[in-house]
Amino acid sequence: MNTYLTDEELALHLDRNPIFHLIGDAADGLGLEAYVVGGYVRDIFLERPSKDIDVVVVAPQGHPQDAPGIAVAKALVNHLKSEHRKAWLSVFRNFGTAQVKTSLTPQEGEDEEAFTEVEFVGARRESYSHDSRKPIVEDGTLEDDLDRRDLTINALAICLNRDSYGQLIDRFDGLDDMEDGLIRTPLDPDITFSDDPLRMMRAIRFATQLNFQIDEETFAALERNRERISIISRERVIDELNKIMMAPHPSKGFVELSRCGLLTLIFPELAAMEGVETVNGRAHKDNFYHTLEVLENVVRAGAPLYLRWAALLHDIGKPRSKRWEPGVGWTFHNHNFIGEKMVPAIFRNLKLPLDDRMKYVQKLVSLHMRPIVIADEEVTDSAVRRLLFEAGEDIDDLMTLCEADITSKNREKKQRFLDNFRLVREKLKDLQERDNYRTWTNPVTGEEIMETFHLKPCREVGELKQAIKDAIWESRIPNTHQAAREFMMEEARRRGIIVN
Ligand code: ATP
Ligand code: MG
Repeated sequence: MNTYLTDEELALHLDRNPIFHLIGDAADGLGLEAYVVGGYVRDIFLERPSKDIDVVVVAPQGHPQDAPGIAVAKALVNHLKSEHRKAWLSVFRNFGTAQVKTSLTPQEGEDEEAFTEVEFVGARRESYSHDSRKPIVEDGTLEDDLDRRDLTINALAICLNRDSYGQLIDRFDGLDDMEDGLIRTPLDPDITFSDDPLRMMRAIRFATQLNFQIDEETFAALERNRERISIISRERVIDELNKIMMAPHPSKGFVELSRCGLLTLIFPELAAMEGVETVNGRAHKDNFYHTLEVLENVVRAGAPLYLRWAALLHDIGKPRSKRWEPGVGWTFHNHNFIGEKMVPAIFRNLKLPLDDRMKYVQKLVSLHMRPIVIADEEVTDSAVRRLLFEAGEDIDDLMTLCEADITSKNREKKQRFLDNFRLVREKLKDLQERDNYRTWTNPVTGEEIMETFHLKPCREVGELKQAIKDAIWESRIPNTHQAAREFMMEEARRRGIIVN
C-alpha cells in the first residue's frame, strides 16, 4: 500500500495509460469535468492491479449538457477513430451511461488481445424509497456522486481535465481509512445501508479481501440494518459471498457475517453450526469455528472455489445429526450423508449452480469421513481401491479436504492421522500405477453372467457380480477377464447355480 502519492505522482501513475489524458481532453473540448473514481483509484493506492475504469462526468452549473457521460464517451471514440485506433461505443441511454472499449492499452503492442474498458456516467444524486434498492436518480454534482458511494475507500476521485490533471478529491478521509485499515461509510451508515443493503455485504467483503477492520459505528449499523438484506436479490448476495470465499482469508468474512447477525438471514444452515452444548460437563466442539479452520486449511493448500465450498459444507449435517448418547457422549452419526442431502437445497437457496459443481460438493461432503476411517483402521488395498472407485477423479481434492479436516489440538493424535494419510496417499499412487481404478469396471458384465447361467435379471446376478468385485478389490484374484470368469464359475458352483 502507498497512500503518500502527491498529485504529481498520481498524474504520472495515470500516464501509464494514455487513455486518461484523452478522456480529459475530450471533456475539456465540451466544457465538462471528468474524474476517474471508485475502485480504480482505491487500487492505485493499494497497489493492486485494477481492471475496470469508471469515469464520472460533471456538467458545471449553468452548462446545459444532457447526459454528459455519453457526450464525453462519444467525443473520445471519435478522437480514437480519427487516430485509426480500434474503438467500440455502447450507449445505455436509459441510464445515461456509455462504455468505451479500445485497443489502446498501457503496454503498447505487448498483448494483442488486451483492451482498455471505460464506463462513463454523469454525476448522480440518488434518493431511495424504503422497499427497493432502485433509487430515483437526478443529475448531481461530483459531491453528490461521491456521497452515494458505499465506503470511504471507494469514494475517491482524481480529476482528468488538463488544468487539474492528477488532483485527488478525498471528501471523507478515505486515504486515512486506507492507512488505518478501516471500513467506513462516507455518510451516516444507517442511511447508507438502509438505502442499499447490498452495501452491507460489500462492507464485509472488502473487510475480508483487504483484511481491514469494520469501524465501530459502521458495524453497529450492520447489526441494526441486517433485516434490510431481504430486499436484495440472492444473485447479488452470492456474488459477494463468492468474493469472500475467494479472499486470502475467507473465515474473516464469515466471522463478521455471524457477528452482525447477517449470517442467520442469508445462510441459516451455516449459522446453525455455531455454539457449544454441554451435558454432564461434556461439551462438543464448536462446529462453526472448526469449519472455518478447515476452510482456511484448504485455502492454504490452494483450493479453487468449489473445493472451498465443500470445506464450508463438509460438516453442515452435524446440527441435525447431533445426539447426546448416555455412556458414549456427543455423536454425529451419518452427518456426512445428512450433509450430502442438504446440499441441493442450500445451493438452490443461495443461487449456486445446480450442475456438476453441486454434485462435486455433494460427493466430497458424503465421502469426507472415509479416508479418516481408513487411516484409523488398517490401510488395506481393498479399502483404498473402494475409495478410489467412489471418489474417481476427485480423489486428490478429497484427500486435501480430509487432511484439512484434522484440526485436533492434540499433537500426537494429529501426527498419527497425518502419517496414516501419507500411507493412504502412497497406496493410492501405487494402485493408480498398477491398475486404473478411477475408471474401474467389472471384467464380467451382468449380461455375461445372465447368458452363462441362463438367468433373468435377479438377485443372484447382482450377488455374483459383487463377489467378483470383492475378490478383485481384496486382491484374491487378478483384475483380468479370465481370472474373473474362472472365479465366477467356481462361485456359482458353490452357490448351487447350475449351468444347463
Ligand atoms: P471490484 O470491482 O473489485 O468488485 P469495485 O469497488 O470496483 O470493486 P464495482 O462494483 O466495480 O466495485 O463498483 C465501482 C464503484 O462504484 C465502487 O468503488 C463504489 O464507489 C461504487 N459502488 C459500487 N456498488 C455500490 C453500491 N452498492 N453502493 C454504493 N456505491 C457503489
Ligand atoms: Mg470494479
